Amino acid sequence: MNDLTNPVEVLGIDAGGTMTDTFFVRRDGEFVVGKAQSDSDEANAVLESSKDALAHWGREIQDVYPEMVTCVFSGTAMLNRVVGRKGLRTGLIVSKGFEDFHRMGRALQCYLGYAFEDRLHLNTHRYDEPLVHIHDTRGVTERIDSKGVVVIPVRLHEARTAAEELIDQGVKAIAISLISSYLNGEHETAIRDVVLEVAKEKGVDLPVFASVDYYPVRKESHRTNTTILEAYAAEPSRKILGQLSDRMKAEGATFDLRVMATHGGTIGWKAKELARSLVSGPIGGVIGAKYLGEQLGYENIACSDIGGTSFDMALITQGNYSIHKDSDMARLVLSLPMVAMDTIGAGAGSFVRIDPYSLSIKLGPDSAGYRVGTCWPEGGLDTVSVTDCHIILGYLNPDNFLGGILDLDVPRAFQCVKDQIADPLGLTVEDAAAGVIELLDLSLRQHLRAMITSKGYSPRDFVCFSYGGGGPVHAYGYTKGLGFKETIVPAWAAGFSAFGCATADFEYRYDKSVDVGINDESSEEDIEVACLKLQSAWDELKVKVLEEFAINGFDESAVTLSPGYSMQYMGQLNDLEIESPVANISGKEDWPALVQAFDDTYARVYADAARSPELGFGITGAILRGSVETSKPNIPKEPMSGPTPPEAAVLGKRKFYDNRVWVEADLFHMESLLPGNNIVGPAVIESDATTFVVPTGFATNLDEHRLFHLVETG
Ligand code: AMP
Repeated sequence: MNDLTNPVEVLGIDAGGTMTDTFFVRRDGEFVVGKAQSDSDEANAVLESSKDALAHWGREIQDVYPEMVTCVFSGTAMLNRVVGRKGLRTGLIVSKGFEDFHRMGRALQCYLGYAFEDRLHLNTHRYDEPLVHIHDTRGVTERIDSKGVVVIPVRLHEARTAAEELIDQGVKAIAISLISSYLNGEHETAIRDVVLEVAKEKGVDLPVFASVDYYPVRKESHRTNTTILEAYAAEPSRKILGQLSDRMKAEGATFDLRVMATHGGTIGWKAKELARSLVSGPIGGVIGAKYLGEQLGYENIACSDIGGTSFDMALITQGNYSIHKDSDMARLVLSLPMVAMDTIGAGAGSFVRIDPYSLSIKLGPDSAGYRVGTCWPEGGLDTVSVTDCHIILGYLNPDNFLGGILDLDVPRAFQCVKDQIADPLGLTVEDAAAGVIELLDLSLRQHLRAMITSKGYSPRDFVCFSYGGGGPVHAYGYTKGLGFKETIVPAWAAGFSAFGCATADFEYRYDKSVDVGINDESSEEDIEVACLKLQSAWDELKVKVLEEFAINGFDESAVTLSPGYSMQYMGQLNDLEIESPVANISGKEDWPALVQAFDDTYARVYADAARSPELGFGITGAILRGSVETSKPNIPKEPMSGPTPPEAAVLGKRKFYDNRVWVEADLFHMESLLPGNNIVGPAVIESDATTFVVPTGFATNLDEHRLFHLVETG
């Protein structure tokens, strides 16, 4: 039914490897969540998931899409393209003599993402294929020194030959990344123009990416990888997002599709720097947790997200997340500013194997994806997954997977767990499956603890938010004994990342490296120069940010600009991002405020005692964020009821393997529970796309905001 006084305004989408979630928000803040299985055609899955969500309001896509004002997409396709090396064939032009540095991967890429034991053993290190093959790489004679001064002029005839050869060889895009170009981009832009000219002469439509136009930041390997990603991974995504946008328009949509970006804001799908959306779904979750925390007064939050393929963790301290500038993803060092997150390749759909040498259980890093496990109704998967174990142990209801649209093959899962895990280990099937779950919980718990303690905090300082379809299944297991203030499972956990996308601002962010150092011996003039350098970098970035908004039809008056900078104590290796306390720097009088803001942030992120100002302060980068406000979902607030769940929520009992014994767990329907209801384990609370497991020794109560609070009772 159309309700023109209360239109649907916002759509958040999370197209994960297993499920595609949609989250629709009405003008009054009410929301619905939809799920569909992910599909190789992403647009199909989005439309199916939208249908599923809107059915809750009895509405159709064709009525709703035309009234919406904003839609934010997040997905894993770009990352998968990089991991699977299935990107666009890209040519690379670098400074002569540096042709090999991309594949050398700063040496550290060969062990990035490795478990500790694998880092130690050189013989287990694997070198991934470089994104660009050495045969598609060319060097051009030129050199700019570390101060940005030209010491060898660029030989443009070599650039011409390079472009001709690369195009003839069949590359579909060209990336250019020269040494020190972030200090002086004239050689790169000259080469870019020559390449474009050659492409034109040859009549080919070839996108060209010069690092200085995208990521004018120091660290060649990071910058080169990121610029290549614009060609290799983001260009194909742009096509897919374009198709999705067209399909939505065909259903009446008039909004401009946006994408969740690594820095925590959203950008248009036509944005120049689309590689910034390399990781998006898990970022959406952190943004959602921050928003929920702001609304309900949770300042310190440990975010934990388990989907089918991975476990993502992030910390929000005093209402803010941190940003990593030199992030790494998919075993590549990158220049993308990214919400600081730790990810491990172990999720609810991870494959389970026996290590033939040690006879121990190994989880992941690969996973069953949308085919779930050996229980997949159409067969096809032969390796046991964690989901198979869930089904055998009564954690998940095989008749309610995705609300029951899949008819899971339980006997096959049982047989596969028996043959592949239980028999080789000499265990019963349920003990083998329980061992898998315990191992996964232990590993998640250890990672969570390590992430928190390595930053000098204790879990006692944090509330843990657990979400993703698999979060509520494992929340008890990975938080057990850690001592969090509270463990909270939102009733919309399964669509939480999509919810986060719906709460995110429309925001572009640009960065530029700056080199400034000030200590006790610096003169007033040095400080003046340093301050003005930062302001001039902001001015440059402002032009870029406003250009991006102009693509989406927003002029300067609609955009809020927030300048920031990266600062570090001199002598330290890492810097921190600071939101600038001054909007416009007029001169040296602003320096103390810049330093103070850094000092305060440092004490928040690490600890007071860790401050180290003795050698002075360095500014390493300028940051400019521009944002436009969008409507946000309301957090539900419902009247309280008594502790006993209503009849409508009671689904009966199910056999559940709890602490190595079969018990009869109480079953409940999540959406029918009322605020105030208290449930004591063993119990399982089912929803269409997630399952909240409350074993013996745990209880949970639902609050007025539809948040479950999980407590250990002994
Ligand atoms: P996500 O990728 O966040 O959608 O999470 C997918 C995971 O949710 C699956 O691998 C399951 O382990 C878990 N899950 C829990 N309950 C359900 C359910 N009823 N239907 C589908 N997945 C579920």
